[in-house]
Amino acid sequence: MDRQLFAILGNPVSHSKSPLMHNLAFKGLGFDGCYTRYLLKDGQALKEMMMRLGLAGANITVPHKEVAFKACDHLDSFAKRAGAINTIIIKEGKLHGYNTDAPGFLRAIREFSEAKTVLFLGAGGTARATSLLLRDRGYEVTILNRGAQRLRSFADDGFDTATYENFKPKPYDLVINMTSAGLKDDLLPAPKAILDTLIPTAKACIDVVYGRETPFLKLAKRYGKPTKEGSDMLLYQGVIAFDYFTDHHYSHAEIEFFMKKAFII
Ligand code: NDP
Repeated sequence: MDRQLFAILGNPVSHSKSPLMHNLAFKGLGFDGCYTRYLLKDGQALKEMMMRLGLAGANITVPHKEVAFKACDHLDSFAKRAGAINTIIIKEGKLHGYNTDAPGFLRAIREFSEAKTVLFLGAGGTARATSLLLRDRGYEVTILNRGAQRLRSFADDGFDTATYENFKPKPYDLVINMTSAGLKDDLLPAPKAILDTLIPTAKACIDVVYGRETPFLKLAKRYGKPTKEGSDMLLYQGVIAFDYFTDHHYSHAEIEFFMKKAFII
């Protein structure tokens, strides 16, 4: 078989660790693949661009995960519910879409096995997919968001939802930043007064932002709470995507062994 080409498509993509992660795993496992990055400005051009580049598969990142969902010819049952995908493989000219962010997150929080109640700060695409999977696995998930608009679909799905104005704080085992606050700025993901009531009663605080300590995690540390940032989520979503790219040829443990070297380089 000829070398297979993969890429991450998004805007921006220059910061992405995915090429390094996947190329280390291709090399380590002896799979004849190569993974690059492509700055995709117009999400509507996704399918055409994947075909033109001759890709066997791709990861999709901000802001195209919902557009990618619509562009797929086939979606697995979880992707259909999630409404957003981050992984595509092409088979016989058809796009097959998967969401590996949510199972990646679930795997990343394995160490908090006693947690039952979870508060999400944020109601974007990542929160949407992840909340569904966490609830499937028995977690009680509440969503707190800045604006009311994105909360509607969560409420329709039966989640407890609140904006800052009508939120009634109670203790949650895990408080999780699912917003992009702290990604490129020094903002907290909710008003400090609210966080000052939530963090002291939490067992741990988690952030999906990776590669830097966000103001949210800094605050949690000041309260002496266990914290976790987003690198493990990134690693595990990549392991699961690689499993699709290579048609389930390797165990997750084998893929992880090589892929996680990207985090120490
Ligand atoms: P979306 O753009 O879909 O949603 C953004 C959410 O953040 C919205 O709920 C928005 O609220 C909220 N928000 C943005 N800025 C602020 C702020 N300053 N204060 C309060 N709320 C804010 O983003 P995604 O769901 O796609 O991504 C969310 C985060 O997850 C990003 O940081 C992304 O990098 C990270 N991520 C990490 C992954 C990993 O592997 N570690 C994988 C995937 C995503 P509103 O509705 O009011 O605008």
